[in-house]
This record gives sequence, C-alpha cells and structure tokens, in this order.
Amino acid sequence: MELQNWISERIKPDEITKYLHNGKDFIERADIGAKIAGAVKPDKHQFRDILAKSLSITTLSLEETAGLLKVDDPELWAEMRATGLRVKKKVYDNRIVTFAPLYLGNYCVNECLYCGFRCANRGAKRRVLSPEEIANEVKVLAGGIGHKRLIAVYGEHPRTDVGYMVDSIRKMYSIKVKTKKGFGQIRRVNVNAAPLSVGELAALKEAGLGTYQVFQETYHLPTYGKLHPRHTIKGNYRWRLYAMHRAMEAGVDDVGLGALFGLYDWRYEVLGLVAHTTDLEAQLGIGCHTISFPRLEPAFNAPYTDTTQYKVSEEDFKKLITVIRLAVPHTGLIITARETAAMRREAVELGITQTDASTKIGIGAYSDGTDTQKGDRQQFILGDTRSLDELIREFAGMGYITSFCTAGYRCGRTGECIMKLLRTGEEGKFCKLNAVLTFREWLDDFASPATKTAGEPVIAKEIEEVKTKMPRIFPQFAEYYHKICNGERDLYF
Ligand code: SAM
Ligand code: SF4
Repeated sequence: MELQNWISERIKPDEITKYLHNGKDFIERADIGAKIAGAVKPDKHQFRDILAKSLSITTLSLEETAGLLKVDDPELWAEMRATGLRVKKKVYDNRIVTFAPLYLGNYCVNECLYCGFRCANRGAKRRVLSPEEIANEVKVLAGGIGHKRLIAVYGEHPRTDVGYMVDSIRKMYSIKVKTKKGFGQIRRVNVNAAPLSVGELAALKEAGLGTYQVFQETYHLPTYGKLHPRHTIKGNYRWRLYAMHRAMEAGVDDVGLGALFGLYDWRYEVLGLVAHTTDLEAQLGIGCHTISFPRLEPAFNAPYTDTTQYKVSEEDFKKLITVIRLAVPHTGLIITARETAAMRREAVELGITQTDASTKIGIGAYSDGTDTQKGDRQQFILGDTRSLDELIREFAGMGYITSFCTAGYRCGRTGECIMKLLRTGEEGKFCKLNAVLTFREWLDDFASPATKTAGEPVIAKEIEEVKTKMPRIFPQFAEYYHKICNGERDLYF
C-alpha cells in the first residue's frame, strides 16, 4: 500500500498543464503525421537552401526536416552526410567526448514492455548500490579506466528516489583515486532517470547534476499508450513530455532528449525530437543540449523487442543520424554501446559528438569483475564492449581527439550561454584548449603504450593549431600543458 501511495503522488498535474497551449501539447500541435504525409521532395534549390541553413548553425523547421526525409537520390544523401560532418566540425571540430553509464539500481514500478527492468519481469535480479558499492564502481571508472563523465541511470522506485539520487551523485563526485602521474576523479555526473518534479530537479541541480536525460521513447501517442500501461506512472505521456521543461524551470539548463528507435516509424520520432527542442526553445529560450537515438535491443523477458514491426535497419539508422545532425546543428549527438563497433565507427563520420566506452550495464558490474553480459541483471544486451583505451586508439587513428573536458559546466558555460557560444563558434576555442589538456592527462595516466603512440601525433597537431590560430592565449596554454605533464591535474580555461 505504501508503494501505491508513493506511485499515486508522483505526478503533479499543474506541472504539465502550465506548458500546454489551449490544452494541447506541442506534439499534437505539430501534427507530425500530416507533415510526413504531406511532405514534398525539395527541388535542387530548396535542398541547397536547407543545407546552407544548417551550415549557418540554425535549427531547421519541421517542414524542412520532413522534406529531407523525402530525399531518395543516393547522391543527395551523400551530400547530406558530408554537410552533416561539416556542420559537426564547424561546431565541435574533431572532438569526441566519452562517458560511461553507471546503473545504480534496477528496481522499477513501471511496465515498459521492451525493458528488462519492468516490474513484471520476475526473473530479474534486483539490486540497489550501497554507498560503498558506488565508491567501488567509481574507483574502477575514474581510477582504473580514466573516465571523467558518468551518466547515472536509475529505475523509477522509492528505493532510488530523489533522496537516493542526491546522495549517490555526491558520492560519485567525492571519490579521488591516485593514478600514475596524478589523480582520477569524476568531474561531471549526468543523470538518466524518470521524469521528476521541479522541486526534485532543483535538488539534483544543487547536488551537482550535469545533463538531465529523459527519453520520450516514442512521440507517437497511440504507440506510447500500448507500450506503457495506463495504470503505471510512465503511462502518463505528458508527464514525460514536459520533464525537460520542468528541468529548465528548476535551473537545469543542459537537458538531453532521446527516442527509443524501433517502437514506431523512425521518421515520426525524428520530427518529434525536432518539435521537442523547438518547443523548449520557444517556451524556455534554450533548446536541448544533446539528443540520443538508442535502437531497441533484445532484453531479458521482454518479448516485445523481438516482435516489433518498426525495427530500424542499418541504412535507415544512418539516415536518421544524418537528418538529426542537419536539423539541430548545434546539438550534441550521442551514440551508445548498444550499437556495434562498425556502426559506431560510421556514426563518427556522420557527426556524432559523444559516445560511451568500457561500458557495463549490469548493476555493480564494473567492480565485481563480471565480463559476461548476463541478461537477468542488465537492462538489455550491448553491441560493443570495447574498452575506452581501444576506442581512443581508434578515434586517434581517424584523426579525432578524445576530450575529457568538463570545464564548460563548471565555469557556468551551460544552457543558453553555451548554445550561443556553440552557434558562434566561440565555445570551440575553450573546448580545443581543454581537449588537449585533458587528453594529455588521460594519455599520461591511463593509456596503453599502443594508444599513447596513436595519441601523440593528434596532440602535437592540436598544439600546433593552438599556436598558430590562438597566439595570444598560447603562452598560458603552454604553461598549463607543461604543469600537466609534471603531474598537476584539472587545469582548464
Ligand atoms: N527508468 C528511467 C526511464 O525509463 O526513463 C531511466 C532509465 S532507463 C533504464 C533508460 C533508457 O533505456 C530508457 O529511457 C529507454 O529508452 C532505454 N531502453 C529501455 N529498454 C531498452 C531496450 N530493450 N533496448 C534499448 N534501450 C532500452
Ligand atoms: Fe523502468 Fe525505465 Fe525500464 Fe521503463 S525503461 S521499465 S521506466 S527502467
């Protein structure tokens, strides 16, 4: 009964209705089905104009995005892919950011038909990490692997309520581990959790929350209704739809959107994501910070994952990344280890900006030494379990620098401020400097000899660019770099 009370008090109706227009949500108003059905293929001029708009780092309209989805000429798709990569390089240069997911608990009161954590799955082994267990996980992540960013993942349950989230975030930040030349520490904790109220989000912000992620799963209301039973909290589509509006009201201005691709027509979800960030911008002045596009993976005791008729093919997956890259040019794009190594490699060339590595999603799996993916303790099955070291070596070989920079968030360069800086290319200057400094730290503290060898030419090239393109700041940069080589840590611009 206590659990029932907890569930029945979760949703605050007035924290939904205040964002509606004449009782309608932004997805209803966007009329996405009609936009897809009525879209016409852009002619050559219109097509070039859309790409030029994207290259000027301006969000595309729903009509323009729907137009791109109609393109069927392979040569034009190649042009879109190439433009998407140019857009990415203009905003983010050759940087890739890495992170690791940390699953804190898999108790959940919801019943999402595609998830291994759903409460009716009696076969799942349920656990919530204790403070000591969190410390053990972080010691491996920050002290052994060298991660600086985590995404903390929680099921929706009183055992992992907002009080637990606050304590666990504080715990993650508190761990400091000695490394070869310096120390390892988590510098940014992002959270992927159920929708929260404004008051709860303010508490997370106070605890040091970086980005708050909530995936809408599907923007298509009838499908949403089928997959999330009405009697569950998650059954309330609009409570979820406005989670990010509430986050921004609470002062959390870096928010991450996402859709779980494979539940409904991928084109609908692409337009849903664009409509979502557009409404955030219209109502709160800032669009989203990142977009994720997880594809549905097989999950233990979740047969829906095998029976869906909306599985997204490899080709369509690449198309959806391309169109999202063009539609929201300044937004970070995240691809996860759900995808195979080959797909992640291709996605880098489509303009993604962040990915996870050395990923384990079993509860407690970083520190308990389990290497195998056990269905009964994790949410779904991963496609790529390569280590951070291997990924960084691969990126370096492709000419990309892995950035562990978390300075923007700690200097207040977030939300509207960072979006403006990203649009104008200003943020890129700080990012470049901090990417080199943090990559130096990582190479010295954590890299295998082979990865160090692959990383040195990348660093040398970046330093040369800083010297020629930013001569005024170069002396201070060189001083920081020298200090880091001598074991000082966490110096940033
Ligand atoms: N419980 C919270 C919620 O649902 O918002 C957050 C954690 S949930 C573990 C994180 C995300 O995992 C979900 O939003 C969903 O998109 C994704 N997910 C669930 N089942 C999946 C599956 N079978 N394959 C891939 N991703 C899945
Ligand atoms: Fe619970 Fe989230 Fe899984 Fe749904 S997706 S069952 S809310 S953990």
